Amino acid sequence: MKTGMIGLGAMGIGMARNIAKAGYLTGIYNRTAAKAQSLAEELNVTAFDSPAQLAANVDIVLLCVSADRDVLEVVSAIAEAVKPGTIVVDMSTVGSDTAKQAAAILARKHAAFLDAPVSGGVEGAKNGTLAMMVGGSLAVLEQIRPVLETMTRCIMHMGPTGSGQATKAVNQVMAAGINQAVTEALAFAKAQNLTLDKVIEVISGGAAGNWFLQHRGPTMTQGTFAPGFKLALHHKDLIICQNMAAQSGASTTLVDMTIADYERLMAEGYGDEDISALYRLKTVDSD
Ligand code: NAP
Repeated sequence: MKTGMIGLGAMGIGMARNIAKAGYLTGIYNRTAAKAQSLAEELNVTAFDSPAQLAANVDIVLLCVSADRDVLEVVSAIAEAVKPGTIVVDMSTVGSDTAKQAAAILARKHAAFLDAPVSGGVEGAKNGTLAMMVGGSLAVLEQIRPVLETMTRCIMHMGPTGSGQATKAVNQVMAAGINQAVTEALAFAKAQNLTLDKVIEVISGGAAGNWFLQHRGPTMTQGTFAPGFKLALHHKDLIICQNMAAQSGASTTLVDMTIADYERLMAEGYGDEDISALYRLKTVDSD
């Protein structure tokens, strides 16, 4: 199974390394070519000049780019050269409608499409322990499962095209709430003059313990907000959630609040920081 990977950002680079380690990676493409060239040398694979060139030379195309328009741009470029029977897997976080549009573009070229967004952060991408939620044909998923398993700890087939992205939207709503809870609680702890590393350690071992507290608590309380998961990307995801909720009538209290907070931070120039930069607003408020 010759596999190509498009998008070597914070997530894609770890994914590519794990696919290469298992011996499946044929080549890579990145819009900023220098990133692809140095990784290609490291992994001893081909750096392709375009998504179309990559698609023409592999059986499986994986992509992990930023937002909806980027996925559609890359999928349209792939469609120019894709061979019939190729399987394209999008691991970016985008809307369900975008997944359906991408699947339709590729179906016209007799290529299959899976929406397969992931959760687990850059650590999960690096360590091959991502959780992956997949929409599309189960038979297609089973065909390429060994490749996807190089990046994941858990793969769940959710249903037809778009249901992987709908599940990821659930995850993003929850992530907004957890971010609000952890940043507010740790700002509260600071205001109580508690020793923050002790607070994080003891609470991580109890009922309120969670991944975000354990991994981002120590850095946010030291004023370090390197991504991680860029705040502007989570903002993009929450707009997707807000639009989906508007169609179904679901509640969006946490989503609306977090979008407003992120917009304040983005206006102050913090959009490229980790989502834990929300702590900046909570500590300003509590000082
Ligand atoms: P990132 O570090 O900003 O990287 C984005 C990648 O996409 C870069 O390689 C970028 O190329 C490429 N790209 C963007 N637009 C493109 C276009 N129009 N054509 C071709 N390439 C394009 O983002 P990331 O953190 O890896 O996230 C990627 C996706 O995974 C996003 O949808 C995000 O929501 C999702 N995600 C992220 C995390 C996380 O913790 N970071 C976790 C789960 C899911 P350049 O190098 O040229 O800019």
